[in-house]
Amino acid sequence: MKLRFAAITDVGGVRPNNEDQVLADEPLFAVADGMGGHAAGEVASQVAIETLKSHFHDDPTAAGLASAVHAANNAVWARAQEKDDTRGMGTTMTAAALVEQDGEQVLEVANVGDSRAYLLRDSELEQLSDDHSLVEDLVRAGRLSPEEALNHPQRHIVTRVLGMEDRDGTALDVEVDTFTVVPYRGDRLLLATDGLTDMVTDDQIASVLRRLADPDDAAKELVRLAKAGGGNDNISLVIVDVVDDDGKAGTASAALADEPAPPSRDPEPSARINPSPTRTDPRGSDGKRARPARTAPRLTVRTVGFVVAVLALLVVAVGAITWYAKGSYYVGTRTGNVAVYRGRPGGFLWVKPTLVDRTSLRAKDVPASRQAQLGDGQPEPTRRAARHYIDNLRAEAEKLAPPTSTTVTNVAGTPPTTVAP
Ligand code: MN
Repeated sequence: MKLRFAAITDVGGVRPNNEDQVLADEPLFAVADGMGGHAAGEVASQVAIETLKSHFHDDPTAAGLASAVHAANNAVWARAQEKDDTRGMGTTMTAAALVEQDGEQVLEVANVGDSRAYLLRDSELEQLSDDHSLVEDLVRAGRLSPEEALNHPQRHIVTRVLGMEDRDGTALDVEVDTFTVVPYRGDRLLLATDGLTDMVTDDQIASVLRRLADPDDAAKELVRLAKAGGGNDNISLVIVDVVDDDGKAGTASAALADEPAPPSRDPEPSARINPSPTRTDPRGSDGKRARPARTAPRLTVRTVGFVVAVLALLVVAVGAITWYAKGSYYVGTRTGNVAVYRGRPGGFLWVKPTLVDRTSLRAKDVPASRQAQLGDGQPEPTRRAARHYIDNLRAEAEKLAPPTSTTVTNVAGTPPTTVAP
């Protein structure tokens, strides 16, 4: 498993100091957004990140990540008790770590607060984490629409952070949301504080993440956009790219291609994003992230490419056939008269011949040998050549039969004198 990553924290355009912290220490990544007066926010996020790092180092597993976040919670609370300035401080924490689980490497994500984890996979951006904020709680309860939440005056009230105190004067035991992502080559994980997500829409974020392949470039561009959008808060983000998944994506694609299993069999790639069973937040059952219905996203680009290629080939084939079928003329008959058709005698595939000229020459007046040709359809390369052929037919017909004018004279003329007595 090979990762490429970038991390940035920026004070933004308005705040005097930066209370955010970022960590990019492969295989551990995190952002933390501290809060509390008198620069206490800085202390909170820093203590949290340091504690996370040291505890995860001792137990670099999925469970170890969650317990490291719990340890960070206790450490922030303990530090808050030391001074009046820091009392009541807290911090968000969104962390991700590449860990081994059941013999394979997975990206374990842990979250407390309103910083976010996103996953860009096959050009689609999905928010993995839930915001632990007042307005998002109201949205989840159906009491506020997502649109109302966007500009709600209390959208910055966070309902779950690290470092809070319980009623009995000890650290409040915090619930940590965890998510497991089975990483595939091309996956892009984004951890970001609200200084980014308040200023830049998900669509804009997705656009940047799709456009700029280099994580450094993408990170800088996101910070630039957040500042351009106002930069009202500190902006912090970590981008982690899965550069090499040890061939897992190929294996999964091949397995799916070999065997289009029925949905009930739940092939592994369709369940790549799972909320951890250890998740304790009952609101997690809203099914937001648990979308096992996603089918084989890895195949999408390849399948679309294949379909496009097949369609292009079809268009070319149709064009060639139409050109062949219509690129010629023939002489035949139409209701007993000699006629010129465009196309192939009898048509070719779905292209039926079309009548171009219908002459006054009657088919039964031409020599018998020619009548057989007309019955089959006499091919001619051009319309002009077809007319020339008909001119010859007309000449031959006139030699065969007496001039029509004579006949007319005989019929319409005065009765033969022999009739008279
Ligand atoms: Mn913030």
